[in-house]
Amino acid sequence: MLNFEDPRAEVAADATESRVNVADKRIINGQTDVNQLVPFKYKWAWEKYLSQCANHWMPQEVNMQRDIEQWKTGQLSEDEMRLVKRNLGFFVTADSLAANNIVLGTYRQITAPECRQFLLRQAFDEAIHTHAYQYIVESLGLDEGEVFNAYNEIKSIRDKDAFLIPFINVLTDPQFKTGTTETDQTLLRSLIVFACIMEGLFFYVGFVQILALGRQNKMTGAAEQYQYILRDESMHCNFGIDLINTVKLENPQLWTDAFKAEITDLFSHAVELEYAYAEDTMPRGVLGLNAAMFKEYLRFIANRRMQQIGLDPLFPGVDNPFPWMSEMIDLKKEKNFFETRVTEYQTGGALSWD
Ligand code: FE
Repeated sequence: MLNFEDPRAEVAADATESRVNVADKRIINGQTDVNQLVPFKYKWAWEKYLSQCANHWMPQEVNMQRDIEQWKTGQLSEDEMRLVKRNLGFFVTADSLAANNIVLGTYRQITAPECRQFLLRQAFDEAIHTHAYQYIVESLGLDEGEVFNAYNEIKSIRDKDAFLIPFINVLTDPQFKTGTTETDQTLLRSLIVFACIMEGLFFYVGFVQILALGRQNKMTGAAEQYQYILRDESMHCNFGIDLINTVKLENPQLWTDAFKAEITDLFSHAVELEYAYAEDTMPRGVLGLNAAMFKEYLRFIANRRMQQIGLDPLFPGVDNPFPWMSEMIDLKKEKNFFETRVTEYQTGGALSWD
């Protein structure tokens, strides 16, 4: 059997050489060959991989001309411009953190090839998202140093990243390896922080803001890109939730009362950080949005994420103040909400062997 510098391949090399038996596959600490995608056990992961490929898009397909005109001819208020800059200030580095977390951290701990296949697609999605934010910054002629450094220089953004980074660093440490209750819980904790809190909560004030601008016919090119990104991120979040729930099912000993209490505290802290970011990006309220609406929205989302992984919601009885966000997530590619351009991605047809 082939061997290379993948800690899980070492396991496979020591195992008896035999064909993969579906029943033996595991999401973590599996002993089956990670190079054999089939026979499938985790069909949901494979199906999400296929859906994500069908959702493929590229930033440069979106025309930014109208946004550039609005930005440069004073058609946006000071508050709206602050919102856009602070918004991009978080996102321009967020998807690089996400990509590093997948590629350098999570991927090597996952022993189900179906899930690895999705993670490979997800890593490319994160590259596309960073590309999209860079494309918006470049189109609008923003100060790159200022925007790309916001995660060091703007407190509300730095606080969110400072919360996330320890959960990423613990996995990107080359010495880290699952296999004990403690390290398995470390991985599970990071998976929850990444899928449910980062992609599932910390992105949502930002998504609402730019999509609300688009709904008022402002920055529609940026809004269209955010709409594609939102669709991708909601798939990443759903995959993460399925992954977390399957790890729980396969390793019920990890889901202790103490662990659940710890995760609940993390959600509570994250809602405060995201709310502080909302206030900082919109100190006077803007676009008919105000801080109180965001407080309710964040509580609504936190409840939903917690229920999705089997925790009791922190804020019972909260309603969604932005029901229009669901339409945004259910975007059909052929008919996009802002109608800036119909984008049908070309698959295969462009190949020529002459
Ligand atoms: Fe993502």
